[in-house]
Amino acid sequence: MTAKITLIQDDITTLAVDAIVNAANESLLGGGGVDGAIHRAAGPQLLAFCKTLGGCPTGEARITPGFDLPARHIIHTVGPVWRGGQQQEAALLSACYRNSLVLADQLGVRDIAFPAISCGVYGYPVEAACKIAVDTISETVSGLPDMRKVILCAFDDVVYQAWLTALGGSAYH
Ligand code: ADP
Repeated sequence: MTAKITLIQDDITTLAVDAIVNAANESLLGGGGVDGAIHRAAGPQLLAFCKTLGGCPTGEARITPGFDLPARHIIHTVGPVWRGGQQQEAALLSACYRNSLVLADQLGVRDIAFPAISCGVYGYPVEAACKIAVDTISETVSGLPDMRKVILCAFDDVVYQAWLTALGGSAYH
């Protein structure tokens, strides 16, 4: 069976799932936006753990425990900074979703929630980013039979609407 994709509007740090994904930066040492919210909610042990990882290149993913979060794991992935579209941004954004799902699956994660990677300070055009997310997730989970549920967790209305459009108008798939 292929995993179901579900769209919600929520604060990702509150979700009790096997894993939430963090839109991190290459240092993995915290930042603003969803990254800052995750570090605040997970507690100081997260930064201590991240310091041992030595960063993460754009497009790749790393895993840590969830510490004080209700989620068991955090998958940290680094989205591309939007530089006009000719700098491999689409391929790198797609790699974030694919690598996060494959890594999560290898660690036994069955349900996972994503924020809109690169759609905040990294400036990726939201509609295009949300379409890449949905296309890549659909394609990747079709090869991961044990993955049960993928949650798209929008924070703001613009991302929610863009994801809804990319899903063809229905929040449940
Ligand atoms: P990036 O640097 O990859 O652009 P940001 O954290 O700036 O990452 O933004 C990515 C997306 O995460 C944005 O759509 C933003 O609205 C959203 N976001 C911010 N805080 C949260 C949160 N607590 N839960 C879910 N999404 C969030």
